[in-house]
Order: sequence, then C-alpha cells, then structure tokens
Amino acid sequence: MVAEVIIDTSVKTLNKTFDYEIPTDLDIKVGSRVFVPFGNQKVLAEGIVVNIKEASEFKIKPIAGLQEEQIADDYLELAKFMAHRYFCNIADCLRLMLPPGRTNKNVDNRIKEKKINCISLSKTREEIEDAIENKIIKSQKQIDVLEFLLDNNNSSMQDIELFTDATAAVVTALQKKGFIDKVPTKVERNPFIHKVDKQTSNLELTDEQQAAFDEISSNLNTANEYLVFGVTGSGKTEIYLQLIGKTLAKGKSSIMLVPEISLTPQTVDRFIARFGEENIAVLHSKLSIGERFDQWMKIKEGKAKIIIGARSAIFAPVQNLGLIVIDEEHDESYESESNPRYNAIEVAEYLKDTVGVPLVLGSATPDMKSFYRARQGEIKLLTLKNRANQSTLPTVDIVDLRDELANGNKSMISEKLREEIQANLDNNQQTILFLNRRGFASFVMCKDCGETIKCDRCDITLTYHKYENKLKCHYCGNERAMVSECPSCHSKNITSLGAGTQKLEEEIQSLFPGVSTIRMDADTVSKKNSHEEILNKFKTENINILIGTQMVVKGHDFPNVTLVGVIAADNDLNFGDFRASERTFQTLTQVAGRAGRGEVPGRVVIQTYNPEHYAIELSKTQNYEEFFDTEIEVRKALKYPPFCDIIVAEMSSKNKNELLKVASSLHAYLKDRVINEKFGVLLYSPVPSPIDKIKDRYRMRIIIKCKYDEKINDLMNGALNTFYNMKVLTARLAIELNPNNMQ
Ligand code: ADP
Ligand code: ZN
Ligand code: ZN
Repeated sequence: MVAEVIIDTSVKTLNKTFDYEIPTDLDIKVGSRVFVPFGNQKVLAEGIVVNIKEASEFKIKPIAGLQEEQIADDYLELAKFMAHRYFCNIADCLRLMLPPGRTNKNVDNRIKEKKINCISLSKTREEIEDAIENKIIKSQKQIDVLEFLLDNNNSSMQDIELFTDATAAVVTALQKKGFIDKVPTKVERNPFIHKVDKQTSNLELTDEQQAAFDEISSNLNTANEYLVFGVTGSGKTEIYLQLIGKTLAKGKSSIMLVPEISLTPQTVDRFIARFGEENIAVLHSKLSIGERFDQWMKIKEGKAKIIIGARSAIFAPVQNLGLIVIDEEHDESYESESNPRYNAIEVAEYLKDTVGVPLVLGSATPDMKSFYRARQGEIKLLTLKNRANQSTLPTVDIVDLRDELANGNKSMISEKLREEIQANLDNNQQTILFLNRRGFASFVMCKDCGETIKCDRCDITLTYHKYENKLKCHYCGNERAMVSECPSCHSKNITSLGAGTQKLEEEIQSLFPGVSTIRMDADTVSKKNSHEEILNKFKTENINILIGTQMVVKGHDFPNVTLVGVIAADNDLNFGDFRASERTFQTLTQVAGRAGRGEVPGRVVIQTYNPEHYAIELSKTQNYEEFFDTEIEVRKALKYPPFCDIIVAEMSSKNKNELLKVASSLHAYLKDRVINEKFGVLLYSPVPSPIDKIKDRYRMRIIIKCKYDEKINDLMNGALNTFYNMKVLTARLAIELNPNNMQ
C-alpha cells in the first residue's frame, strides 16, 4: 500500500502530497504522523498521511517511522478547509492542532520546579533566520533549539530537553555565541494562580437572560448560531455559565473563547468557582510550553470538559464537543495576524456545522458583519437591554479639544476632565485614563527641515521613550539613543510632538501633586504575570489613577472606578481603514463600560477634536443600533464589507526591483483571468503598502473588491501558485480576505 504524505513545511512549492510505501510493520492510517526521508536532507522529515492508495506511478521510498500523536480525521479535514480558505499550506494549519512542542519524545520524565533558568532569545527572528541561512549556525541541534525558542521563547531547560533532542551543552554553546540568555524565572506549572475557595451556584436569571438561555438551551443538539447582544453588565457571562453547566451535565465539553487580554484570573476564577478546577483547562500564550502541554493533555484525556482560552484554543483536542461560546466576538484578537491568518470565529462556524453544536457569540458592540447577518436572519439575535444587577450605565460628557486650545489650555487634560479627576481624588474613588498610544511623545521632529526620525528598517516614525531616553520602532523593536541633532540637516532644533502614556503620566503627576498612578502599556507589561500584577496592585492598593493603552479597555471589573477619561478619541479615526469608525465606537463603549460597575454611578469624559463625528457622538448614549444604522449606510455607499469583500494580496521582498517585477507580473496574471473569465470584480493596480517597508522588506499590495465565493478563491489560489512558480528570490506573497489591519 502507498501513503500520500504532506511534509511539515511552510515552503509554498511543497504544499502537495508525496507518495511513500507503507512498511508492513507500521500501523499507518489517514491522519498518522510519520517520519520520512525527504530530498537529500540528512535528517528525516516530519509528515502526515492524508490518503492511502493501492499503488504509485513513481519510484518511491518507504515511510521510516511513526510518531506518537495522531491527527483525528475531522481535524485533517479542518486543516484542508483552512489551507484552502486562508491561502496557506495544510501543514501550517495542522501545526495548530498538534500538542504544544510538536515532537514525540517521551514526556513522563518531567520535573516540577519552582524557580528555574528560563532560556530566552537575545536576537530577533530575522537575525536568527539569517544566521541559519548563512551557516553561521550549522549544528542541527543548535538550529532545533533556536527554532523551538522562536515558537516558545522563555522555555525551561527541561522543556527544551523534552521537546528537542538538545542537551544543556547545546544551550551553553548558543549562549557563548550570543544567541540566547538564561534568565532566572519563577515557573508555575499550574496556571491557576490562586486558589478559589468560594463556590457559586446559578443565579436566578432576569427575564431577558431567561429568554436567551431558554432559546439556546432547548436547542443544544442543533447547529445554530446565536448572537447575544447585550450591554456591558447585562449578564451575558452568567448565561454562558449556565449553558456550559447544562452541557457539562450531559457529559459534553464546551469551548469558551475570550480575547487574549481578558484571560485574567478574574475571568477564569468565575468558571472555577462554578465548576471546580478539575473540570477546567486554560490555554493562552502567556503559559509556558510545559503548562500548555499539561493543559492540552488534560483536554485530550477528556479530564477537562470546559476549555477556556484565547483564539488558538478553538483547536484544542476536545472530546465530545457540545457547545462553543465566543465572548466579545468583535475583538480583533480572534483573527491571526501571522501565517496561517485564520479567523477563530470562522473555524468555530466550521466546527458548529461539522460536529453539529450551537455556537454562541456575545458582545455589547458586535462586529458590523455579525450584526448585519443577525438582521438578515442568518444568526439568531438575542438582545439584553438592561444591566443584570440594576446598576445604571455611566453618564458621558464629550469635550471639544479645539475649545480648550482656543482657551489657551495646551495640556493633555481638559478643564472638565481635570475637575472630575479632582472630585474623584477628593472622594477617594479611582480613575482610569485611556490613551491609545504608548511612549512619551509620538514622534520627534526637526523644527528646521521638518524631518521626522524614522526607523531605518521600516518606514515608520520612531517613538520617544523618555525614561530610557531612547527612540523605539513599535513595528520591529529596533531602538536607538535619542538624537540631539537632526540626522538630515544637523540642526539642534529638535522637538517632540504628540503624546503617549508616559507623557500623560508625567502631566498627571505635575497637575495633581502627590497623586498615586500606575501605568499599563506594552512597555510596563512584559513579564509573564505583569499585566495581572498591575491590575491587582491598582485594585488592592487603591491607587488613584490607572493610565493605559488598549489593554485597560476590556473585561476588568473594578467597583471603585467611577471615572474614565479618554484622552484622545480621534486616534483611531485617523487610521486609513474602513473599520475606523466601528473601532472608535467599540473602543469608546468598552472603555465607558469600565466606569461605575459598583454602587456609585460612573462618569466618562471623552476628549476629541471631532465631537460631531457619529462614532463619537453616538458613544454618548452608547446606542449601538443607532450607530449600526448610520455606519451600515456608509458601508453600502462605499461598497465596503459586509456588502463587498476586500482581498489584499500583499507582496514583500528585500529587493525593490524584484518586488516591482513580481507585482506587475502578478497583476498581469490576475487581469488576464479577470477579463477572460468575466469576473465581476474591481482589480486595482499594484501600489506601495501604507507602510511600504518593514524590517528591511519592501512591501506592495494589490487590492481586489469583490463578492467572495469559490470562484474568487480559485482565482486567488491560482495567483498564489503562479507567484511561487515565478522563481522569486526573496519575494513573499500573503493573501488575506477582509484583513483586520489594513496597514
Ligand atoms: P456581562 O458578561 O454582560 O458583562 P456579567 O455576566 O459579567 O455581564 O454580569 C454583570 C454583573 O451582574 C456581575 O456582577 C454578575 O454577577 C451580575 N449578574 C449577572 N446576572 C445576574 C442575575 N441574574 N442576578 C443578579 N446578578 C446578576
Ligand atoms: Zn522598525
Ligand atoms: Zn533637520
């Protein structure tokens, strides 16, 4: 018998099957993970059997060995569906479904330890890939360790030994070469950080909750899709808890997805308090590889029947799936920004249909597309208009920053917001200030020639970080010392413009002497639990003001926070993206939802230069439906999703000439097919991407507006094959449908 095998690689030209003979002593089935000799590689390649047939037309070699973990048939089908839908290799998709660490070494000798050396990379992905390509690193074991760390940075030596064949000597050699560091870190193999003692039972549902619950729970064996549309605090989570409870009582499992950022112990604790730790597995990227492995096995063995996790938890090896819940379904984090660029909601919809289970989406500010589909009757809409615990929605004030300037107030804080903060300080209540920009000033400019200082690897203005006195690139992490003269005209007349969270904190300190503040942004949140530590500190030490970026927006519940200030609501509006208004409205509504979760009603102050913009004006009443009705007309008029789909074919290369050449060839190919086969699409010419250089790679894109269907999919998959058959040197092509980030 002959097996058709897919090799585990992202190389586009290898996204096909290769025939191998099945040795009689190996139990090979479709879905078996195998080792095979491949090309003239000295080490065996990993692969997966996707089909079995009688004979091959080629002269073939036998399969060399069988790996431990197999892929279930239905997950193999899912991977095929994803490769087709997201224009990537089947192997890329299968990797998401394998146990964390992805090799088959014996895993019984794991050692538990409290404080251990974690191994972390001291070079960037580019530098490491270059070093391997240029044979600076030659040893296969060293390459294995580096590649393992690229996926699992900050792993313990135990984990490295467990998941690669390397010994401590290999790691030491890499350390001497300057590729890695050893950092002493506390490691907790149990991701349930603190014990939950209290137990909770089902709350008595309000009428609105009961109606939503009844509708779903009486159809638990049907592949229905629901949208639970309810204001913040309307008790959506309580509905999920009771649905999951009912599913558990039937002996079935549930997957509950939440945005990465709201996977806090607070969220997890609510589930533990209701169902007990032993029934629950938690999966997210902040867990160490060992922890993820433990959780994965707990699910696979059927011990954990409730899986709570971020995006990738949709691929958990769940046994006997009965329900999928996706909270904050509008959140961007459900869409992967790296290959494979999948959307977890679409994967959930696939599982809903193939397994035959309900899918429950929830949000206070649904994605435009979901709400449109709900209005069209494709999704069942369940609405909750009132807060469950009778607390009132906050009052919202909008401050026009142009008036502040006219009145000579150059500070980041308007008169109104200053008064409100003072009132909160006087009453010992807490405040959150939201600013969607980290660093001290957004950029540094020469007053004489107008030059801004940019990253030399990306076409991006560097951000000033005052405490370190450095300029940083928020795209590639590149940094340099703050300049004292203009690199272009050598003038010393340098100024900083715009404002980030660091500057805001400094202004607050000087406006309110003696105030206690804490800052939460990508610079202060880096270590494993730091996000958590900041929030806990803010809560337990009753710190006056929390200053933060996007991270402060979601899911947290602070009873003593009665004031939220939005420093610049326009930051997102000026983003060249068709979703700008939607994002702005969503963010403002979510931020406002942080105020007044306790007894005292909340106040929100929104500062803006565009008070008349509907996304800002309507956030005053937090009237989502009115926003939807306005925005949907705009989308219709401009032919944007959900009325039309946008495909972005993004090409990049280190060589500008090569990029220009492949871009025009690809465009010619597409144009030819579009004209000859009478596609009803709008095909645009290749243009430089909004950020036309990132990490030394030049970028161009071709945009297509169309109504996505199988025929378009075929066109784009054809383009992908054509592109990689052009014998490109360094060029890459990524195709994305309605990408989250149009930059
Ligand atoms: P959402 O997920 O919609 O933001 P939650 O489920 O977190 O809402 O509920 C908000 C608050 O109301 C929580 O403190 C929760 O315990 C409480 N709550 C939810 N449902 C009820 C209910 N039926 N009776 C009393 N309190 C409730
Ligand atoms: Zn850069
Ligand atoms: Zn200058």
